[in-house]
Amino acid sequence: MIPFSRNKHECEDCHAHFGSYDELVRHAQEAHRRHALKCAECGRLFLHEKDRLHHVKEERERKVDARRHKF
Ligand SMILES: [Zn+2]
Ligand SMILES: [Zn+2]
Repeated sequence: MIPFSRNKHECEDCHAHFGSYDELVRHAQEAHRRHALKCAECGRLFLHEKDRLHHVKEERERKVDARRHKF
């Protein structure tokens, strides 16, 4: 395990570090009034469209995977 893998989510505006992406999003919204993008599937919030698209793609692949394992 890499000890620096925690707190790897850094705020672009004030360079504060967060243990999870969700914490970073919440901080950016509250401290910097950033507009967050929402995943239509699970309601998770993202700061950038590319982050949201990456998540949506992963979510879709996971769903395909689950289907494959079921049958
Ligand atoms: Zn910040
Ligand atoms: Zn989602």
